[in-house]
Amino acid sequence: MSAKSDTSPADGARIEFVRAVTRFAPSPTGDLHLGNVRTALFNLLLARSSGGRFVLRIEDTDADRSREAHAAGLLEDLRWLGIDWDAGPDREDERGPYRQSERAGVYAEHFAALQRQGLVYPCFCSPLELDLARRAQLAAGRPPRYAGTCRDLSPEQQARKRAQGIAPSWRFRVPSGRRIEFHDFVHGPQSFLSDDIGDFVVRRADGSAAFFFSNAVDDASMGITHVLRGEDHLANTPRQLLILEALGLPAPAYGHVSLLVGPDGAPLSKRHGATSVRELRERGFTPGAILNLLFRLGHSSPEHGFLTLEEMARAFDPRHLGRSPARFDEQQLRVWQKEAVHRMSLADARRWLATALPRDLDEHSAEAFLQAVLPNVVLPEDAREWVAIVFGPAPVPSEEDARLVRDAGADFFAAAAQAAERSGNDLSAIAAAARAQSGRKGAALYMPLRVALTGRTHGPELAPLLRAMPAHAVRERLARFASSSASKSTDAA
Ligand code: GLU
Repeated sequence: MSAKSDTSPADGARIEFVRAVTRFAPSPTGDLHLGNVRTALFNLLLARSSGGRFVLRIEDTDADRSREAHAAGLLEDLRWLGIDWDAGPDREDERGPYRQSERAGVYAEHFAALQRQGLVYPCFCSPLELDLARRAQLAAGRPPRYAGTCRDLSPEQQARKRAQGIAPSWRFRVPSGRRIEFHDFVHGPQSFLSDDIGDFVVRRADGSAAFFFSNAVDDASMGITHVLRGEDHLANTPRQLLILEALGLPAPAYGHVSLLVGPDGAPLSKRHGATSVRELRERGFTPGAILNLLFRLGHSSPEHGFLTLEEMARAFDPRHLGRSPARFDEQQLRVWQKEAVHRMSLADARRWLATALPRDLDEHSAEAFLQAVLPNVVLPEDAREWVAIVFGPAPVPSEEDARLVRDAGADFFAAAAQAAERSGNDLSAIAAAARAQSGRKGAALYMPLRVALTGRTHGPELAPLLRAMPAHAVRERLARFASSSASKSTDAA
């Protein structure tokens, strides 16, 4: 076999990242997953950092697997994350439509061009026949590729198959003896032999355009200059280059980022916990936390702090995309989430925790409560416990904590309750009165108060917590331990 070497479409040394037109091209077959979000993010950043454009294309030619609800969900999740596109299904321009299911005319035209050159042929093989041939090749230790069964059918043979009512798919005639080379801007120089690539389907039996074909045609006709996608597509690239070459269309530069794996090194999946945007959003993770983590997965940056999307675009460098698998770990996501919560304004925090907070909470109490609990909150579920403690019925201390209350004594709490009556929810006035009565100070002073008021020995700062509590609750929680019989009882609620 003589392998002719072709010029590579994008010479590595010359790949430039100027005004890059990039795209995110999801298939709407399920929820948007972290791996895909990272691809979308990197493409957005590559476009923004180079003064280019970012395009969203929905790859829904596979009618069996694509769902409109998934497409709508993808758009919604991307918007929620703040990943914004310049052109897409809801922002059409002259290069659209941006939904492949609406591009049948474009594909028909290019398919006809392949047909005119004799570069496609009908294939009548049934899924069962293809599967058997595949198994036979695997059993013989060969990589499975289309055996070429229908490649050289005569017009008569083809007519006979059609007469049997078999609707053919159409395959691209892969040239033999060619070497296909390109420079991947993440992985470096790539070289494939066309003889290792079987003739592949460009048009399905139902007339729809198949992936290798529609994907390549659209990248060219939408003016995409840089294709940045998951490593699972690296081996598809030579097929797409062959299609582009046959059609005389320009090839983009390709870069394939390593896949996301879980902490155990296995490809990221359900068993690693919540990995779809919808799940993470429902649990209360914020866009900023998710994006800051993904920005560092498979992309090294000297910027270690929490970044906005604009700052990420300035710090993004496609030359720093990694080849080794990037590990996703929920613990790291929690670290970024903590940072995101720390940066929230009180108004944003109130919206973020809306479902956890009591409905009729007044402005003053909400603000005091958020000031008190936010430093200890990573997810809304962490706030729920404190909502119950502050706004619910008086919490009953554990047997062990109740001892601290008993030791302080009834008079201590009588003085504290009276101060609460006079001062409202002012912790310093309450503590001063209890100190004057008992001579206690430090932990000995504050711990019994904390236990009486919250039922816990630990938790958020007490002063703002009290300001959030209804005034009568503060008084009652202290007063319940103010009679000697009550202070002896551990469960005097
Ligand atoms: N629809 C393909 C996918 O979701 C797109 C691949 C590509 O980015 O070229 O995997």
